[in-house]
Amino acid sequence: TNFADLGLSETLLRALVDAGYTQPTPIQEQAIPHLVAGRDLLGIAQTGTGKTAAFALPILNRFAADRQRPNLPGRTRCLILAPTRELAAQIADNFKTYARHMRVAVAVVVGGVSSGPQARAINRGLDVLVATPGRLVDHLESGILKLDRTEIVVLDEADHMLDLGFIIPIRRILAKLPTRRQSLFFSATMPKEIGGLAAEMLRDPIEVSV
Ligand code: AMP
Repeated sequence: TNFADLGLSETLLRALVDAGYTQPTPIQEQAIPHLVAGRDLLGIAQTGTGKTAAFALPILNRFAADRQRPNLPGRTRCLILAPTRELAAQIADNFKTYARHMRVAVAVVVGGVSSGPQARAINRGLDVLVATPGRLVDHLESGILKLDRTEIVVLDEADHMLDLGFIIPIRRILAKLPTRRQSLFFSATMPKEIGGLAAEMLRDPIEVSV
């Protein structure tokens, strides 16, 4: 299998050639066609498996199809939740790498840095917002960010999120999302509590374990 067989747009395929990716990893091969088709996903995968591209590429593929659509101020089409600042920055960098031949507005919203520039980025309207849960809730509560137009949500490293005590902010964020959406859930392990959260968040997901 190659990336062209997975249903990805020409602009993304060019970026993958630029990045030196020649072949999809197993999680990419198994997940991308279903995600392009709009399905929810439960992914059991560790870092290093290529899971970031497995969700970033189908998300960007959707934007490639209708890139004319303007962003609405204070909204994001896609929300990625990550447990740490470092992971959030890494995910955003991956999105920028794959989107290099497209026009996509990506921003990172994490704690420990001033929130003014984050608020201004949100105000301009976003395609992709990568965030840690605590700071995201701050922007929701101040009214800077609204999730009523968010089409896709990704919860990355869910087990790590719960270990860090993020369950309350996560539930608060999920409650603000439209019920009609695409949801992706990734975790390295699947203890009961994580399975319960996945079941609440996902609708008829495909399951991929690598
Ligand atoms: P991740 O599991 O998302 O943290 O990805 C691990 C590393 O593999 C990252 O540095 C990616 O840039 C790289 N990577 C992801 N998919 C591929 C691929 N299909 N071919 C080559 N490298 C890849």
